[in-house]
Amino acid sequence: MHHQSRPHVIASSIVCLLALTVAGCAAASIHDGDGSPNPTSRSRGAPAEVPTGDVTQVAGVSVSSADGYSADSHPLAEIADTPEIANLDRDLRRAVDRATEAAAADGVEVRINSGWRTARYQQALLDQAVEEHGSLREARRWVNTPGRSAHVQGRAVDVGQIDAASWMQEHGSDFGLCQTYENESWHYELSTDPGGTCPAMLRDSTAG
Ligand SMILES: [Zn+2]
Repeated sequence: MHHQSRPHVIASSIVCLLALTVAGCAAASIHDGDGSPNPTSRSRGAPAEVPTGDVTQVAGVSVSSADGYSADSHPLAEIADTPEIANLDRDLRRAVDRATEAAAADGVEVRINSGWRTARYQQALLDQAVEEHGSLREARRWVNTPGRSAHVQGRAVDVGQIDAASWMQEHGSDFGLCQTYENESWHYELSTDPGGTCPAMLRDSTAG
């Protein structure tokens, strides 16, 4: 099989993508053995959480915050200057910002698990998903190709945690934010006008 830490890395990274619980993901993916000298200072207990130096290995490819990678989830405002957020469509960013404020008023914290990504990062995620799921066909249900991914276009965010996704399901359309795929309760795009009706969800990312 694989040597040493790879299965662990792959499994934990997939969990980060597919699950809404990210607490354990950062720790699991920071030390991926890519040779980077101490890519994060988080383990030292520093209060700063902004992922300016996050680096990891995804399917053998080194990705960093410049690719839109972050080792942890953050409220949007906290990482506004990172490529992951700064490269998002401006209207989407504004909508998520407003929704985040409204959710906070309801006692729910909306965090961003993933925003904009480079095509190479998206391809690495797809390659990783193929390893995990055993076929491109199954992987494509969860990870889109770089050419089709709304993340690469800066037009999608993955929100967490579960309570935030639930809140968004109920209130997202007030801000024009809609869940795109039935199998991804965390993936939101700006798909309607504020207060409008969301289009019917696609079954998964192989559809549409
Ligand atoms: Zn997504």
